[in-house]
Amino acid sequence: MKKERDLKFYHGVCSSLSFEGKGVLLTPEKEKILVKGLFVGEEADVEVLYKRNGLYYGKIKHLFKMSEKRVPPLCPVHNACGGCSLDGLSYDEQLLFKKRVVEEQLFFHTSRHFDVKDVVSAPNTVGRNKIQVPFGYDRYRRKAISGFYRENTHEIIENENCVTEMALAKRILKSLNYLVNKYRIAPYDEENGTGYLRHALVRISSRNKAMLVLVVNDLSYRLPEQFISELKKDKDIETCLLNLNDQKTNVVLGKTNKCLWGKGYLDEDFHGLKFRLSPQSFFQTNHAVAELLVNSLLKEVEDIKGKKILDAYSGIGTIGLSLASEGHNVIAVEIMEEAVADAKYAAQINGISSFSPFVMDSTEFIMKETQKKANYGAIILDPPRKGTTEEFLKAVLTLMPEKVIYVSCDPKTLGRDLVSLLEKYDVDLVQPFDMFPYTHHVETLVALKRKLPQ
Ligand code: SAH
Repeated sequence: MKKERDLKFYHGVCSSLSFEGKGVLLTPEKEKILVKGLFVGEEADVEVLYKRNGLYYGKIKHLFKMSEKRVPPLCPVHNACGGCSLDGLSYDEQLLFKKRVVEEQLFFHTSRHFDVKDVVSAPNTVGRNKIQVPFGYDRYRRKAISGFYRENTHEIIENENCVTEMALAKRILKSLNYLVNKYRIAPYDEENGTGYLRHALVRISSRNKAMLVLVVNDLSYRLPEQFISELKKDKDIETCLLNLNDQKTNVVLGKTNKCLWGKGYLDEDFHGLKFRLSPQSFFQTNHAVAELLVNSLLKEVEDIKGKKILDAYSGIGTIGLSLASEGHNVIAVEIMEEAVADAKYAAQINGISSFSPFVMDSTEFIMKETQKKANYGAIILDPPRKGTTEEFLKAVLTLMPEKVIYVSCDPKTLGRDLVSLLEKYDVDLVQPFDMFPYTHHVETLVALKRKLPQ
């Protein structure tokens, strides 16, 4: 067995970016060192921090040669924070990087080259409409702090100027921090499970109103009245809830909410329709980009009007209801009860009757549809990062709709899932969208068309 060496420092030139947007240094022994904030062509002294799964991870100690594509990072704590690996790279380069990642991942899994379109840029790169930050206690400064985690740690990096946050979210988090310290609300301590406040989640609607969710580990604790009334002075916080999470887990939200004021959900507009968002319901993080994505999706199903469309992993129905409002007949399936309740509410207030949402696991649902020999003109799926299941894909190949449209937030699982579909479908369009500017993440729409019989 090859003996592992104890690599502490390395000097070299970055040859490529990994799919997570980290600079890659290749040693003569073919070891890879991944370095955040190092871009292609740059020469640096790097300190190696740790090794995981056969890869070294390091940080820049000294940069000797800078890339022309480098721009001043927008974030003041860019080096420490674990988010936004592409901050510091020009926006055009960020888009080129994402296109390449989609090309590479699809090729890696399918061994086929696809004509990946240029990434649709974000009209508003600081448009992230949901932000969730952990709270912790800073022992040195003896105060509660919130922020993002240092990469691969649970150490909180305080940051009042996060590039991804909208101005209103920043303002709310700043005043929340102040009030938490003023009223001595105890932050949760992950190690021993003591304390109270775990996370704050802020959601901003396109009307620039906010929902604030305080994730706490005990609903019986009474927050000081003064704390609530001071927080409430911010009239842009339309609604504020407590969410109970008393488990030792990395999952942010628990199941139970208690409304402190307002309606308990956030009013939102999308594709000319009115929606409501419950704390647990998913909503795409960049509103403007989500609109562009749905417009592009609508074009793909334009010619199959009159036939049923399945919207799997439908959330609150942003895709399905947009389609239904344009005359399509949509069946939606989503596992989260709250999201389906939001979808039903939206269908009702927008007067849409050609939309039928079901609370069920998408795979279970589609397998039932195959037994019924259901007839779909198109199947749309928009699963979470882990992608869909083999059984789901098998069922698609049994139902054989004219079109399959896969919306994915992870090119790796997208590539994996496309393999079986390619047996009976041709790829018509691969269109990435910049849903998550400054990060390495990319959203991709793939439109597939049933192959003609040979
Ligand atoms: N299409 C929606 C939501 C996409 S996010 C939109 O554009 O807004 C993925 C959604 O899949 C989430 O709402 C999540 O709750 C749901 N989900 C996760 N696992 C699921 C499963 N096994 N079956 C059905 N829905 C699932």
